[in-house]
Amino acid sequence: MSRPAFESPAAEAATPASLHRVVIIGGGAGGLELAARLGDSAGREGLADVVLVDSALTHLWKPLLHEVAAGTLDHQETEVDYLQQARRHHFRFHLGSMAGLDRAARQVWLEPLIDEEGEEIAPRRALDYDTLVISVGSIVNDFGTPGVREHALALNTPADARRFHRRLLAACARSELQSGGPVEIVIVGGGATGVELAAELSESVAEIASYGARLQQLPQAVRLRIVEAGPRLLAAMPEHVAQTVHEDLRRAGVDVLTAQRVKEVAPDHVRLGDGSRLPAEITVWAAGIQAPPVLAQTDGLERNKLGQLVVRTTLQTTLDDAVFALGDCASCVPAPGAAPVPPRAQAAQQEARLLASSLERHLRGEPLQPFAFKDKGALVSLGRRNAVGRVIGQMTGRGFTFEGLLARLTYWGLQRQHMAALHGTARTVLATVGGWLTGRSQPRVKLH
Ligand SMILES: Cc1cc2nc3c(=O)[nH]c(=O)nc-3n(C[C@H](O)[C@H](O)[C@H](O)COP(=O)(O)OP(=O)(O)OC[C@H]3O[C@@H](n4cnc5c(N)ncnc54)[C@H](O)[C@@H]3O)c2cc1C
Repeated sequence: MSRPAFESPAAEAATPASLHRVVIIGGGAGGLELAARLGDSAGREGLADVVLVDSALTHLWKPLLHEVAAGTLDHQETEVDYLQQARRHHFRFHLGSMAGLDRAARQVWLEPLIDEEGEEIAPRRALDYDTLVISVGSIVNDFGTPGVREHALALNTPADARRFHRRLLAACARSELQSGGPVEIVIVGGGATGVELAAELSESVAEIASYGARLQQLPQAVRLRIVEAGPRLLAAMPEHVAQTVHEDLRRAGVDVLTAQRVKEVAPDHVRLGDGSRLPAEITVWAAGIQAPPVLAQTDGLERNKLGQLVVRTTLQTTLDDAVFALGDCASCVPAPGAAPVPPRAQAAQQEARLLASSLERHLRGEPLQPFAFKDKGALVSLGRRNAVGRVIGQMTGRGFTFEGLLARLTYWGLQRQHMAALHGTARTVLATVGGWLTGRSQPRVKLH
């Protein structure tokens, strides 16, 4: 088997070929935490050769994508280098994109690696595994709606968020230099992603507009509309939280259209089920998730209607003990009759933590542990100073709702916890202070 570029060479040289090889595909909220934790235990102790594969060289915590899209966060400030993490946490990183699986041969196939100029860096290749963990996340579900693929943007990856930001700046420049009217944006989907993006955009476009002579004279620099097919926003959250959010968005000038289905997306408008037409320079599709199409190439593993891999409570796939799945790409029902574990960062992280300790013990001959989801509640960020949500006390099991700056700080703290799991507390504090100091000399919104 050939060993292509972008592996951490020091770790590669130090790894005996006879070690049990754990290959993790996808270094997101779940996969990277698993690699770091398992590397620090089984990798460091010489129990396993832990290999993380991702299609990018850097990791960005997905719940921050709407901030990168709006320009309120510079992606370079929070991106994490996989190679650096690999050296720090005793695993190897392999740049590549999963193309398929040969379960009998215990090999995962990777796409050819091509650089920006179209030159091949590494050919299509196979990686051997003894244990495989698939954690490739999710993509948005367009439900087959015409025009979405061609004309709507999604927030699946950091590249999507950067593309959105470039389109936003171009739309603002067009308003300033040509049309003189507000920027028209339609967000399809009133779940957490759509709501958070709308709140972030209403603040960021107002900030961008303050730099332009014509834009700042408009009563509203952006006309933002959320179109939701269900009867209300945030279907997964309690009704009173959704009402608070709806009211906050209305005050921020966002139009919320509920019980409206999008029939078609065109280059400059969105057509609704009732035939009406909403002008849209930018359309964002954020209406539900599905598994990435590559999971159809997993050699017959069981999948559900959304294409997610069906797993047992041990997070093993139903048809193959050597293949595990976690996070958004997996469907786990933790107890008979219970709801499936939701596609959320906290679930992916809890699964990663369970699997890191469970696999390490398994390598020592102990049985695998079952996963139990502890719902800690959910927070929705509404711009820089506001958030709304419901937190569930782990001792009492009772939930309470809160909003405002305290909720926003709690939301911010969740991302810092993820950073601390990767960098350690001291480095996270230093990076936070450094980021804050740098931010004092920068515009509040990224203008390029
Ligand atoms: C804008 C937004 C806001 C959100 N806010 C919240 C929130 O507030 N709270 C919350 O709990 N959840 C939130 N979520 C959901 C949360 O981000 C996901 O549930 C979580 O990231 C899932 O983690 P994961 O590890 O399964 O996948 P991801 O974090 O998506 O990681 C998947 C990884 O797999 C890699 N990958 C994909 N395909 C391949 C391939 N073929 N080969 C190799 N690598 C591959 C990707 O590069 C990526 O690194 C939000 C999502 C979005 C989009």
